[in-house]
Amino acid sequence: IIEVKGLYKFYKAGETVVHALDGLDFTINKGEFVAIVGPSGSGKSTLLNMLAGLEKPTKGEIIINGKHLEKLKENQLVAFRRNNVGFIFQSYNLLPTMNALDNVALPLVFRGMDVKKRIEIAKKYLTLVGLEKQIYQNGNAMSGGQQQRVGIARALAMQPEIIFADEPTGNLDTKTSAEVLELMKNIVKEENQTLIMVTHDNDIARVADRQIRIVDGKAV
Ligand code: ATP
Ligand code: MG
Repeated sequence: IIEVKGLYKFYKAGETVVHALDGLDFTINKGEFVAIVGPSGSGKSTLLNMLAGLEKPTKGEIIINGKHLEKLKENQLVAFRRNNVGFIFQSYNLLPTMNALDNVALPLVFRGMDVKKRIEIAKKYLTLVGLEKQIYQNGNAMSGGQQQRVGIARALAMQPEIIFADEPTGNLDTKTSAEVLELMKNIVKEENQTLIMVTHDNDIARVADRQIRIVDGKAV
């Protein structure tokens, strides 16, 4: 489903050039849960941003479902992100003064659902992540683990083919991290979605089916 060939990303920093990605080649299959793991500054977020169509590579190919991302125009990339991918963030990015239900239901507008359907789907996914009792609670009144579960419900409710998660458990304690990871993994498997998670933590990476380890922009 995802093919990466000879991928490079260079950034100019004054006089020097940073090789954020330095020649990556790999394939990720449909339904796989892959962890991209490596130390700080190794290029993990840069890679995720390329795969999600948020940034263009300096050189190389990213082929998703036969489509070359590096050849798409900005409006086609916007459509790709909206229709094919979902994001789970380290910092949750909930709308703090909206309740859990609205946080999950709102983006479903982009799926062309009427309000009744949006609420039905949002309730379904909030129940899946164990928050059926908190649906009317505001984002800013929830614990970190609860907020991240809303974040997961929000991403999954859109039913994207591919889900990108950048340090999804970075702000959570060890026990809550394990719970959130397990939950994410199980729902994604159930729906045969592809999950690509970035982490610097080896213990968290171990939960994935497979690890892509990067150091200084190279797969090792
Ligand atoms: P962390 O675990 O700390 O989040 P990371 O593996 O996600 O690190 P990246 O954010 O991908 O690392 O950064 C890879 C390298 O590219 C770093 O050296 C970083 O300084 C550099 N870099 C990233 N974005 C830019 C940018 N917009 N301009 C210049 N350099 C950048
Ligand atoms: Mg990063």
